[in-house]
Amino acid sequence: MTVVAKFGGTSVADYQAMGRCADIVLNNPATRIVVVSASSGVTNLLVELTQANLTDERRLELLKSVAAIQYGILDCLGRPAEVASELDKLLSQMSVLSDALVLNRGKHLMDALLSTGELCSSLLFAAVLRERGARASSFDVRGVMRTDGHFGRAEPQIADIEALVSTELAPLLKDNLIVTQGFIGADEQGQTTTLGRGGSDYSAALLAEALRAEAVEIWTDVPGIFTTDPRLAPGARALEEISFNEAAEMATFGAKVLHPATILPAVRRQIQVFVGSSKEPERGGTWIRHQVEHPPVYRAVALRRGQTLLNLHSLQMLHAQGFLAHIFATLAKHRISVDLITTSEVNVSLTLDKTGSDSTGTGLLSEALLQELAEHCRVSVEDNLALVAIIGNRIATTSGVCRRVFTVLEPFNVRMICQGASPHNLCVLVDEKDAAPVVAALHSNLFETAL
Ligand code: ASP
Ligand code: MG
Repeated sequence: MTVVAKFGGTSVADYQAMGRCADIVLNNPATRIVVVSASSGVTNLLVELTQANLTDERRLELLKSVAAIQYGILDCLGRPAEVASELDKLLSQMSVLSDALVLNRGKHLMDALLSTGELCSSLLFAAVLRERGARASSFDVRGVMRTDGHFGRAEPQIADIEALVSTELAPLLKDNLIVTQGFIGADEQGQTTTLGRGGSDYSAALLAEALRAEAVEIWTDVPGIFTTDPRLAPGARALEEISFNEAAEMATFGAKVLHPATILPAVRRQIQVFVGSSKEPERGGTWIRHQVEHPPVYRAVALRRGQTLLNLHSLQMLHAQGFLAHIFATLAKHRISVDLITTSEVNVSLTLDKTGSDSTGTGLLSEALLQELAEHCRVSVEDNLALVAIIGNRIATTSGVCRRVFTVLEPFNVRMICQGASPHNLCVLVDEKDAAPVVAALHSNLFETAL
């Protein structure tokens, strides 16, 4: 049995946190490979370092802050010579890259700079494991995590990764505990790339897939996946298990615990994923499984804020063919990923999926796109909306679901409803200002009240 354990930034924030994670790893002999994020805060500091027009003073400050975090851990380790010299090298690379970025704003340099955070944390974490008597070494994941050359959001090349993992990494696991980096990879030319912010979960799932692992553990700072965000509903509780389909829906609809794409490699290979808190491992966590025994009708309520609704109206649509095809082709051309859709005879309303779109979220709807759409229909855009998704099973085929949900929603204005396409969700679009009360009301009715 092979388990891949991934520790997020807060889990490897300092020496003490790393110690707790090392105990978790060593408690389970099946854990053969550990994937780490950069220590908490480091990636943010490095991202700031990639920005244009920083003063020299600020640059030095940022480099110092990163160094302070990493040396803090090294000092607690008693500065083992080999680790100290490796760390010095990484920190001086950081400074060389940040100098280089002043003159050359190359994205490849930015990714190289960002990658140093994970290179430092993996180096130090392996040392923490060795301090506990483990035979652990750090492994440069760029030797196996092959990606395309899309810096900042590189696409992993699954077949290449599988081949490289089986020759370069799998043999090492026999007698070593391997600590490696999340988030980073390399393209065919060996240039460093990154998978996008929060990409370490994805790295762990990709490695698990390539290694044919039985489980991936995602250790973070929350004890599992909750029925909803506890800040919105104090009655929210951690789930013991959840199916992949439900978890994917939750991620899509805004739950923060997992990077949505993490699910994909695990789903492909039916690898179960555990989510737990490295601060309180004794509290257990949530298992995400391919199949769960008794999937409930109501599993969770998710919230995604900042939604934009695009309304299109055209009489051309009446009894015509090809209108929607045309609209979607235009959206695709502008790299807009559509989320929810409702249609009537002469109207289409759609919400835009900022996560899947090739955009940072601001200026998603460019003037060019709106003009192009306006050639074929009347266009209006509404902002300040939030999407609330009730996630579960057999939602579309269980009687009484709509009555129950809409009774709860009675005091609120529901701008749009999507129900029926997926057995796993019922979504409503509401005013941003109603989002929190809607989630609280739904949670209280669906999860805290006996029928
Ligand atoms: N260190 C990277 C970030 O903060 C990747 C990760 O933590 O998953 O985005
Ligand atoms: Mg993270």
